[in-house]
Amino acid sequence: MAIRIFAGALAKAMSNRDSDWVSAGRAAMHKATGATALRWPSRNGSSLIHVIVLAIALDLGWPLGAVSQMPVPLPVAPPAAETPPIATDVRLAGDDKQTRMVIDLSHKIDMRAFTLADPYRVVIDIPQVNFQLPPNTGERGRGVIKAFRYGLVMSGGSRIVLDLTGPVRVTKAFVLDPVDGQPARMVLNLTTVDRETFLRAAAIDNHLPRPSDPPPARADREEHTTDPRPVVVLDPGHGGIDPGTRAPSGELEKNLTLEFTSMLRNKLESTGKYRVVMTRSDDTFVQLSERVRFARQRQAQLLISIHCDALARGSGEAEGATVYTLSDQASDAETQRLADAENRADVIAGVDLAAEPDDIADILIDLAQRETRSFSTHLARNLVNEMRVAAHLHKHPHRSAGFRILKAPDVPSVLIELGYVSNARDLKQLVSESWRSRTGDAIVHAVQTYFTTRFAGGTAARAQGEVP
Ligand SMILES: [Zn+2]
Repeated sequence: MAIRIFAGALAKAMSNRDSDWVSAGRAAMHKATGATALRWPSRNGSSLIHVIVLAIALDLGWPLGAVSQMPVPLPVAPPAAETPPIATDVRLAGDDKQTRMVIDLSHKIDMRAFTLADPYRVVIDIPQVNFQLPPNTGERGRGVIKAFRYGLVMSGGSRIVLDLTGPVRVTKAFVLDPVDGQPARMVLNLTTVDRETFLRAAAIDNHLPRPSDPPPARADREEHTTDPRPVVVLDPGHGGIDPGTRAPSGELEKNLTLEFTSMLRNKLESTGKYRVVMTRSDDTFVQLSERVRFARQRQAQLLISIHCDALARGSGEAEGATVYTLSDQASDAETQRLADAENRADVIAGVDLAAEPDDIADILIDLAQRETRSFSTHLARNLVNEMRVAAHLHKHPHRSAGFRILKAPDVPSVLIELGYVSNARDLKQLVSESWRSRTGDAIVHAVQTYFTTRFAGGTAARAQGEVP
């Protein structure tokens, strides 16, 4: 159907030189493929055909490797008024173990690189760029790069596709600011790896949302792309149709967590050190995978999910705050019970969990998660240390289980159960301004310690903008 619309528009563009038909063709093509709008050299039918042939020749459509069958959304387009950055030079260096690509740009842009198998490729998605490169650029490669091609793939989005001699890992991918008369530079480092490592990385890329996937409609869209501060995502548990747990006196978890998290956001923001974003800022339902995606989209360096627990009447008494990290095996039966309860959020809202992509790649993701997990554990320990003083902690304050909200493979994540709404003492604290403020301060201290020690550690540091 879509192809027929496009073919019709194309036929009209061929027979009618009225530029409106070219626009119609472009609109139809955009609809049909979701990946068009290459630069139109002039508005007539023959150049339309020319451009389409060019697009096919360049293979700039969605790559359809064995691993990737999913459409790959592009970085968010810059406002229309902005002139696109200009790429003026490309340099390749290195050998068949390590290869570096450097592209000179008129100004800094966002980038995202990922790999595809069979044939082996690296795809770099960037906002729309005006490529003013010498003719024949990309026909010959160097090191692991056989050749490369580049161009617009959609309005506002350009792409560079590298053909590789074998499997690689993207070990660096970042854009440097212009300095001392030097242009901005995009740097990509590729290191040869074995096929298994390559496939694992590709599977993660293709089974999980990417950092630059379009944000969900309700997400706040603020993107300070030039702001170098780490992004901390705060996640107030439950919301909308899913109230979470309920105190005997009627207080709802979703309200308690939103109030607490809003206070925590203000405290974290006032340090000036972090970009703080919340997965929800009102009483709306956000599914768990959406929250994880939200954090990944923003390349968050931390995700802190805030909840309150409750024990059913007659199932004993528990009190105090607990910090949870992700693990395959719940640390005890009580923790498994809690993880099951928290993971039911999507069931409550009628979300089809069978369609969730993260289950498919669980095993693969687990492999990549080890480093992230050690960071999460590091933060959890800081939190326990700080909160021990300010808040009242559970007798086993750090536990772990398979919480879905903690499953981002590249965002260190913790879940804090502030306390039990089923416990009178905990509930009294949960609604107390002074307790909230003390506990918020403790969390802020823990986050500050986390970033200081993490980046001071050297080996643990993962540079901003680097592809994990
Ligand atoms: Zn909860």
